[in-house]
Amino acid sequence: MTTRTRFAPSPTGFLHIGGARTALFCYLFARRTGGKYLLRVEDTDRERSTAEAVEVIFEGLRWMGLNPDEPPVFQARNAPRHLEVAHQLLREGKAYRCHCSKDEIDQLREQQKTQGLKPRYDGRCRSRSAPVAEGRESVIRLKTPLAGAVAWEDVIQGPVRIENNQLDDLILVRSDGTPTYHLAVVTDDHDMGITHIVRGEDHLNNTPRQIHIIEAMGWTRPVYAHMPLLHGMDGAKLSKRHGAVSVLAYRDAGFLPQAVNNYLARLGWSFGEQEIFTMAELERHFDIAQVGRSAAIFDQAKLEWVNGHHIRATAVQDLVPPLLEQLRRKGIAEPDPAYVAALVPTLQERARTLAEMADKALFYFVAPTAYDDKAVGKHLTAPVLEPFADLVQRLDSLEGWNEALLEATFQATIATHGVKMGKLAQPVRVALTGSDVSPGVYEVLARLGRSESLTRLERCLAFFRRRVAE
Ligand code: GLU
Repeated sequence: MTTRTRFAPSPTGFLHIGGARTALFCYLFARRTGGKYLLRVEDTDRERSTAEAVEVIFEGLRWMGLNPDEPPVFQARNAPRHLEVAHQLLREGKAYRCHCSKDEIDQLREQQKTQGLKPRYDGRCRSRSAPVAEGRESVIRLKTPLAGAVAWEDVIQGPVRIENNQLDDLILVRSDGTPTYHLAVVTDDHDMGITHIVRGEDHLNNTPRQIHIIEAMGWTRPVYAHMPLLHGMDGAKLSKRHGAVSVLAYRDAGFLPQAVNNYLARLGWSFGEQEIFTMAELERHFDIAQVGRSAAIFDQAKLEWVNGHHIRATAVQDLVPPLLEQLRRKGIAEPDPAYVAALVPTLQERARTLAEMADKALFYFVAPTAYDDKAVGKHLTAPVLEPFADLVQRLDSLEGWNEALLEATFQATIATHGVKMGKLAQPVRVALTGSDVSPGVYEVLARLGRSESLTRLERCLAFFRRRVAE
């Protein structure tokens, strides 16, 4: 049997990071078992489902590399098929028309509440003999077994059992003739040949109801895996209150998709001590049966740490496009990709996100307009003025411009003046970047190029001279 999973988002907003984790688990399960991962857009809520929301979900999934193995299915288009199933159940006596008015149902509910009972439909129309007034609206309900229980072995939750007397007769078709959510989900899962349903724990209560439809139709039950939900560091369900929850917000904040996938897979699942996984490793090792039952706590700092690892492990040419985007966001209109590629290795070691990398790269594009006060106070001191001025002079008369030549020039200058390398390098940093934290000075000088470097050094030298003279 080929396994088939599906991710079934409702396109009513954005792709939530929790939804993305569900998609990832479906995808990884399919990959590990040599099966197929499908996508179904649950767009039956016509008012809330918008084309933009669908596009945002597709974009988020594309970004994460979770592209379905078959074209996506749009649930709303299958409504005639859903109704066909309901009518089959009706014909076979497994479903019935319920003519209860809203008032009648409300009354029943009130009665049950006063008796301290859980409000549920009592199935009175199963055997309604009284004739129904012409034109009276009806719904189609499933005949839920009156006794017994629904039980299944959940891959993550373990054995689950719900007594049937806890469930009422589920509505399959509403009075306006539209199929309900459960009918649509079950029918589509069957028609798509889904063998494994991997979804959030919030759907656990839906499962017994959906199983009843499956049984009534005589279909094969899929295997269920209900994943624990994502929680914030405070233990509450992850929501906007905790910061970014949309997947694309993570892209925009400078995270790499491989890092987000790595982090989300590792949340609630472990593989020895290994923290960092490539997508290929996840596809090989991820085992949904090993996912724990407790809530997964989303820790932004850990995600940044994982992202930092992936930034270091990613080839320069793959970092360039997202870094260009980050630079544009920071106002660098048309960063040259070749120039950016040359900068990446100087910044790759320390950045936790590409947004941070872009911040640290800004000086490569824009000369400092001011120098950091503290750095000036610390490094632009009188005894360094002469060596610094000499260095600028020597650099100015250099024949070439590369890291080896630059280093030799620095070495010669410190030898002449008997100063430590740090004493000379720090004012150079200030001159080039405005602050005393930056990649190595030779790297920076080499990338800025001769003319830009000398302009910045000379401007700083003038400032330095004025400062010492004062
Ligand atoms: N459309 C549902 C949701 O967005 C998922 C349904 C399912 O996975 O069965 O939560």
